[in-house]
Amino acid sequence: MTTPVTIIGAGLGGLTLARVLQLHGIAADVYEAEASAMARTQGGMLDIHDDSGQLALSAAGLINEFRSLIHEGGQASRVLDQHARVLLDESDDGKGGRPEVHRGALRGILLESLPANTVQWGKKLTGVVARGDGRHELTFADGSSVTTKLLVGADGAWSKVRPLLSDAVPDYVGTSFIEMYLHDVDVRHKATAEAVGCGALFAVAPGQGVFAHREPGSVLHAYIALNRSAAWIADIDFSDGATAATRVAAEFDGWAPALTALITDADSPPVLRMIHALPNEHRWHRVAGVTLLGDAAHLMPPAGDGANLAMLDGAELGKAIAARPDDVEAALSTYEDAMFSRSASAAAGAHETLDLCLSARAPLSLVEFFEQMRGSQRG
Ligand SMILES: Cc1cc2nc3c(=O)[nH]c(=O)nc-3n(C[C@H](O)[C@H](O)[C@H](O)COP(=O)(O)OP(=O)(O)OC[C@H]3O[C@@H](n4cnc5c(N)ncnc54)[C@H](O)[C@@H]3O)c2cc1C
Repeated sequence: MTTPVTIIGAGLGGLTLARVLQLHGIAADVYEAEASAMARTQGGMLDIHDDSGQLALSAAGLINEFRSLIHEGGQASRVLDQHARVLLDESDDGKGGRPEVHRGALRGILLESLPANTVQWGKKLTGVVARGDGRHELTFADGSSVTTKLLVGADGAWSKVRPLLSDAVPDYVGTSFIEMYLHDVDVRHKATAEAVGCGALFAVAPGQGVFAHREPGSVLHAYIALNRSAAWIADIDFSDGATAATRVAAEFDGWAPALTALITDADSPPVLRMIHALPNEHRWHRVAGVTLLGDAAHLMPPAGDGANLAMLDGAELGKAIAARPDDVEAALSTYEDAMFSRSASAAAGAHETLDLCLSARAPLSLVEFFEQMRGSQRG
């Protein structure tokens, strides 16, 4: 490669790619829409899997830095019913293959590992035009433009690069998450902190649930899940936080107060996250000089895989380019073939997991799922 690889998006996937390329002596330019690394809190804990995210971090030479970020005890999980009865309670014995780290801290070690100015902040891609021979001209919101021989769309769910390869558009899956935070919980929200425990809580019923995570610093991070139509969701005005929270809480009438407090006593306004997905088998025919990774390629419901897969894509693509610098098209084909098949099966699994969390048999369906998972890990 004689010209830098051009990566759109400084999420976990794009940064992992830039780092792996750089380790192989290949330059990369990352263009990111946000104004700076601090423009948005990169909230939330991520469990980093030993068969995907951790492999990527090893390829990026950052596994020790990653280990220093692990939130001890964070792999504990609990399933509760709506009356806060504990149906399953698994502690973190430190041996699980999915340690938890804070997303912002993880992004931080990737950013710090890159040469200065690798990421160009405040560069929102607004247009792409093919210029022949695999070259693409990119235009940014600030009016600047650049032409590249190798373009990678790592720009997430609503990728601006994706239309060069595919007509697919993410569809609403019928589930919405409403995100909220509680702070200083051991003092101010003791009953709720005790219900959540030191890891992840899943309190579920048919069609709805309360998911929460204990984070470092006495914080609870909650996603309230509702299987509701887009029209039903559109009826709630999320710009009026207090009224929206009251409306959402009304759907949990009769649930244990320790659980509904995650909605009614939240310290942050409710943020709507409607869950969208690309088709499970999303793929495209090779187009010279461009590819996708992460959510841009395979947006799927959140079931704990998305960030892990984005990083694995970044690492695998970086290694493929490094292995064939003289034939980038062959490198992209090798990367895409493997990525299409692993993401199709992960996407099918993600839909199944979300469905069984909120199925007509919830919470039993989720308890059975956890027990099966543990059984297969033991046997
Ligand atoms: C509610 C929720 C919970 C989740 N929980 C988990 C979890 O526990 N574990 C897990 O593994 N995954 C989880 N995910 C999925 C995970 O967040 C994504 O799969 C992951 O962030 C994808 O990484 P990415 O690098 O592909 O894209 P992103 O993280 O979306 O990064 C894309 C980057 O591109 C930038 N960008 C976008 N458009 C442009 C543009 N036009 N020009 C320039 N830059 C642009 C964005 O600002 C962003 O920085 C969750 C998702 C949701 C919605």
